[in-house]
Amino acid sequence: MHKILYDITKFTALDYEDHLSAVLWFGGCNMRCPYCHNADIVFGKNIIEKDEAISFLKSRVGKLEAVVFSGGECTLYKELPTLAKEIKELGFKIKIDTNGTNPAILKEMVDKKLVDFISLDFKAPKEKYISITSHKNFISFLETLKYLIQKEQDFEVRTTVHTDILDENDINSIIKELHAFNFKGKYFIQNYIHQDKILGDLKEQKKVIDKNKIITDLIEVNFRNF
Ligand code: SF4
Repeated sequence: MHKILYDITKFTALDYEDHLSAVLWFGGCNMRCPYCHNADIVFGKNIIEKDEAISFLKSRVGKLEAVVFSGGECTLYKELPTLAKEIKELGFKIKIDTNGTNPAILKEMVDKKLVDFISLDFKAPKEKYISITSHKNFISFLETLKYLIQKEQDFEVRTTVHTDILDENDINSIIKELHAFNFKGKYFIQNYIHQDKILGDLKEQKKVIDKNKIITDLIEVNFRNF
């Protein structure tokens, strides 16, 4: 049987706001963000079969409200819509954490109402996208972003900031782009928190971004971990 998961977090109140959730961690990623805290998952071997995950979730019906798909990059799994359907039939809501580079799967899931909430990473403005993510397809990310906006899908956008690689101008350029696309949701600027084990060789930040230089009157901007 095909193993699709690296791990399961059986209970969390942190990964989906206002929802008690389990997290399904999908191994593997098509990016190499230097600040990534999940190197084990990005390079990890999947060891859990789908049936095992479903039977665990069956035991949590009535106890948890939601299931979060995270990773790694969960949309690399073509089975994701089928899995989401099975999980929704058990009565759970579904949240997806994604870098947005697989618009086809996300469109299918939105169209079939297989996802309730999405956290979409806007990793960097176009000029810095490849250097930060090692992924060249900014166009795919934009396609996802525009689709979610057009479909009025409930979703947030977030950017992790380490000031060695992103500055206030980069963040403002993202904010202007979101505004130009008529994004009406919440945008989160997430301050990098250093851990010893990350994907790249970034060190502790010497300074955090200056919030006073961030444009806050075009869209709803929120600051996390500052
Ligand atoms: S932070 Fe980057 S490398 Fe890490 S899981 Fe997310 S997209 Fe992949």
